[in-house]
Amino acid sequence: MSPSRPNILFIMSDDHAAHAIGAYGSRINQTPHIDRIASGGMRFDNCFCTNSICTPSRAAILTGTYNHVNGVTTLSTHLDGRLLNYPKVLQEHGYQTAVVGKWHLGHGGIHDPTGFDFWDVLPGQGLYHDPEMIRMGERTTRDGYVTDLITDYSLDWLKGRDRNRPFCLMVHHKAPHRSWEPDDKHADMYEDEDIPEPETFNDDYSNRAQAAAAARMRVERDLNAEDLKVPVPQGLTPAEEKSWKYQRYIKDYLRCIASIDDNVGRLLDYIDEEGISEDTIVVYTSDQGFFLGDHGWYDKRFMYEESLRMPFLIRYPREVAPGTVNGDMILNVDFPATFLDCAGVDVPPSFQGRSFRSLLGGETPADWQTSMYYRYWMHGAHHNVCAHYGVRTLRYKLIYYYGDPLGQEGAVGPNMQPEWELFDLEKDPCELNSVYADPDYADVVLALKAELKRLQEKVGDEAYRGKTEP
Ligand code: CA
Repeated sequence: MSPSRPNILFIMSDDHAAHAIGAYGSRINQTPHIDRIASGGMRFDNCFCTNSICTPSRAAILTGTYNHVNGVTTLSTHLDGRLLNYPKVLQEHGYQTAVVGKWHLGHGGIHDPTGFDFWDVLPGQGLYHDPEMIRMGERTTRDGYVTDLITDYSLDWLKGRDRNRPFCLMVHHKAPHRSWEPDDKHADMYEDEDIPEPETFNDDYSNRAQAAAAARMRVERDLNAEDLKVPVPQGLTPAEEKSWKYQRYIKDYLRCIASIDDNVGRLLDYIDEEGISEDTIVVYTSDQGFFLGDHGWYDKRFMYEESLRMPFLIRYPREVAPGTVNGDMILNVDFPATFLDCAGVDVPPSFQGRSFRSLLGGETPADWQTSMYYRYWMHGAHHNVCAHYGVRTLRYKLIYYYGDPLGQEGAVGPNMQPEWELFDLEKDPCELNSVYADPDYADVVLALKAELKRLQEKVGDEAYRGKTEP
C-alpha cells in the first residue's frame, strides 16, 4: 500500500469530555488504552466543536460544514444523505468505508448513512443493553453490551476487508451518553472511593448572563430517578445530597468510559497485530465535551470550556512524532479536510473546514486560525439552555445569548432577554466572572464583536436581528 493512502480508524464516543481522559490530565479516572494513542501520536489541547450537541456535531464531522449550511442545527433535524460527505469522496478514490455504532442523524430514506460500503447503526440514541441495530437497512436486536458489540462488529468488518485497498472505519460509541449504564464488568469500579468534586462544583451563577442560572442541568436538582438508578438516601443535608448525586452520576459515567477504554485497546491491538500501525491514522475523539459536575452541571450545549472542548488524539507514525502536544485551534469542521488531505485527495469546495495535516508534522501555517465561531440553536429544549452564538480566541470568549428559538425544529419556549458575556480565559479560566461590562475591556469587546462579524460572514451565517437586540 502506498504511504500516501493511509487507513483511517476514527473512534468517536458520545459526550466524553477531555477532562475524563488520562492523557489530558484527568483527576478522576485513568484511560490507559486511549492514552496509547496520545503517547504514540499527538494530543490537541484546543479542539473545539462548532455546536455542542450530538447530532449537529456529527453532521459537521461528516460534511465539513457548519450547521446553518448542512441544516442539522438541533437534535430534531436530520442529515440529508444526498449531501456530500468525506466517506463518499474516499469511496470515489478507492477506499473501503464503514460506520458502526451511533449514527443519530436520522434513519430511513434520505437519512440512512451514505458514503459507506457497510453500515450497522443504532436507531436514535440506542440502548446500552441488548440494543436494536440497523445493518444495511435491516433492523434486528443484538445480545450484549453496546460498547462491546460496536467493537465486535468493527473488528469483524476489518477482518473481512480487502487488504489491497485502504479503509476508513468510523467506530461511533453510544457511551458515555446519559443515562450512563455500565456493563457488569465495570459495575463495581470506584465502589470504595470518592471521586473528587470539580473546582466549580458549587458555582452560584452570579456575575454572568441569566442563561447560566436558567439552565436545568444541575446535579443537585435535575438528575432524575433513571439517572441515579437507586433511591436518594434519607436524612442528608442539601449539600450532602448534592455530593451523593454527583458520586452516583460520575461513577456510572466513568464506568462507561472504562468499557470504551478496554474496547479501544482491542482495536489498537488488532491494528498492531495486522502490522498496519505505520500506515493507519487512529483518532480518538468525542462529539463534544461535557460538564462533569463543573458549574454544578451535567450535560453540554453551552459555549463554556468543558462543553466546547473536544478530546482529539491522533496517531499516525508516518507523519506524527510520538508524545507530541499541539495548542493550535482545530475544529470539528476541519476533520474531513484533514483526512482527505492525508489520503492525498483534493478537498471539495463545499467543505468549510481547513486541513490541519501540517500541524501533525509540527508546522503551523502563519495564517492558521486563532479564533472560532460557535452557535447553539436548540433554544429552551431539554435543559433550558438559551440559544447563543459567539467567538473564542486564544485568550477571550465573547458569547451572545440571543435567546430566540427562531422556528428551529426542536427549539422551544419563550424568548429570553438577549445578553452578552465576555471571559478573559487567562485571568478567569473557569469562566466565573463575565467582564463584558468592565470598562477596562471595552476595546476587547469592540474587537471581538468585529471578529464575530467577520467569522459570521466567512462561514455564511447571519447575525441575530430580533427586535430585542440591545
Ligand atoms: Ca454527544
